[in-house]
Amino acid sequence: MATKDIAVDVAVLGGGPGGYTAAIRAAQLGASVACIEREAVLGGTCLRVGCIPTKAWVQTALFLKQADETFAKLGVQVGGVQLDFHKANEWKSSVVQKETQGVASLFESNHVQWIKGTGSFLNGQTIAVDGDVHVTFTSAIVATGSFPHWPQIVGLDSPRCVDSEALLAQTEVPERLVILGGGVIGCEFASIFQRFGSQVTVIEGEPSLIPAEDSDAATELQHHFQARGIALQLSQHCTKVEDGGSELTIHYGDNETVKSELMLVAVGRGPAVEGLGLENVGVEFDRRTGIVTNKQRRTTVRHIYAVGDCAGHWQLAHTAFREGEVAAQNACGHPSAVDDRAVPRPIFTDPEIASVGLTEAQARDRFGAQCATGEFPWAANARAVMQDERAGWVKSIHETVHGKLVGLVMVGPHVTEMVETGVIAIDAGVTVERVANAMAPHPTLSEAIKGAAQVALGRAIDVPGRQSANGTDSGDGTPFEGRFPGDLRYSSEHMWARFTDGHVQIGITDYAQNALGDVTFVRLPEIGANLGAGDVLGEVQSLKSDSEVYSPVAGKVAAVNRALSDSPELVNDDPYGQGWICELESIGPEPEGGLMDANAYTKVILTEQEAGAGQVMR
Ligand code: FAD
Repeated sequence: MATKDIAVDVAVLGGGPGGYTAAIRAAQLGASVACIEREAVLGGTCLRVGCIPTKAWVQTALFLKQADETFAKLGVQVGGVQLDFHKANEWKSSVVQKETQGVASLFESNHVQWIKGTGSFLNGQTIAVDGDVHVTFTSAIVATGSFPHWPQIVGLDSPRCVDSEALLAQTEVPERLVILGGGVIGCEFASIFQRFGSQVTVIEGEPSLIPAEDSDAATELQHHFQARGIALQLSQHCTKVEDGGSELTIHYGDNETVKSELMLVAVGRGPAVEGLGLENVGVEFDRRTGIVTNKQRRTTVRHIYAVGDCAGHWQLAHTAFREGEVAAQNACGHPSAVDDRAVPRPIFTDPEIASVGLTEAQARDRFGAQCATGEFPWAANARAVMQDERAGWVKSIHETVHGKLVGLVMVGPHVTEMVETGVIAIDAGVTVERVANAMAPHPTLSEAIKGAAQVALGRAIDVPGRQSANGTDSGDGTPFEGRFPGDLRYSSEHMWARFTDGHVQIGITDYAQNALGDVTFVRLPEIGANLGAGDVLGEVQSLKSDSEVYSPVAGKVAAVNRALSDSPELVNDDPYGQGWICELESIGPEPEGGLMDANAYTKVILTEQEAGAGQVMR
């Protein structure tokens, strides 16, 4: 059969969240784009057999609970509440159909060609699709997703042992369901099926559920699961499964057994990297950790990118969306980078969990004693009380040197909707004080976020006698007081300077970075260059602007921070240490007005804020 040749600017392999986003973004930027997807519908795991169908069931489960436990309390009488599983499945399928068709019509309106079939790289310029079509490209984006791990356990080949996709295809609710794996997927299904009426047992090898999450959140979930009658077998390993025809006998731990009609195997997913011909083009990958990429999502071959589950950074749809945008922008000549500071982690159990930034343990590891938290219970939030949803809390986590919010962990009603507030706050680098001072609409669940920040600062209004661990509240409404390292001096151009032994190290202040947006490129000065005070020392490109930066003092460039060339985001990560730009020697006279101390600098910032100045560097 003759091979059809298609030539495009950007070829995308895989039509899930990473792939379809990349394809649409590249098309928006004027590229000709082909997306190769082997399934009959677009949308990938997320839309077909992941996020979307599971959350359709989560909605059914939530309404069942409310109808069963809450309606009558609030004066709504409904008789004989029961699950109609057939209807729930019809609803689930209709939602999936709408969403997947939505992607197909977005492809049409953006003129993205969908090439149906299985693709693999023939060489660095061509993807072959089922041997019929050759897609030649200038850039390619790999977005092939992941597949469920299947552990080597005797008896796991029984048809009663299913993965998440097969569980979603069930037409009957099992009387008993054993779930192997207490991670996010296992816990979401445990929560759903307990509401659907199954007797649920979770077997998890680690001592806690959702082991990677904040340990307070995991403990809270465990309490609620146990109160709902979900049996938890923690620190236990499944050793064997026997299929007796009508039921399974699952062996675990020290000769323990549990019987069940069905067993979900949810022990993690691996990146889909094999059979893609990546070896043919020199793209480096690892079967366990995925395709090697940098923050631009470039692989080891410059014009080939990888995004989403196959790149192995996260296994979340929203990270795949962002990675897809970034790769497409880079492929089309618009430099971008993925920022990992504010990745939301929603878990759609009942109660819901949603976090962003650091867990408390990670924050304590990183900041030691210079870290404080504030916890606001739902029982003190009027909207939660009127919804009869008082389980859980909101916890804010901040570092106490600059007062920056570094984490937000929430357990309770609709927290997966609210976590975006924390994403924006952490992404913008705001202080906990800013969160505490911002007005929250009343009466809403979102007030609990402000409440947690107030608790953290020891000034909670709605909860009695909560003091912060270490008072970081300036008390006079001055958000920066005492937040700057004592040995730094500042210029009105928002550069900092640290003097040691005749040398001065120079960088950009935290405040300036927040105003510029995430730094994506830094041009360093030449070593040996002589700079006068106020001379341009380099250039900083950020997500918001392109700025020249000025030397706050005169001197000869003795050293530059080469690490910034590969990782300009270091500037964002640590404004007063590894994000330094250059070091000068032979310091001449200071610029007119001299360098300021922190108090004088604070006044400059406050004056600028009052005047509404958005841009802090020229
Ligand atoms: P995928 O969505 O897996 O898409 C990859 C696509 O590539 C697939 O369509 C596949 O058919 C195609 N493909 C692969 N190889 C080839 C080839 N050689 N040729 C052509 N096509 C190919 N994440 C969340 O953020 N929130 C959630 O609530 C959530 N719930 C989940 C629930 C479940 C049960 C599961 C399993 C996952 C869930 N996830 C959730 C994770 C989320 O689904 C994934 O992180 C996301 O789908 C990854 O997107 P992706 O584009 O990288 O890969």
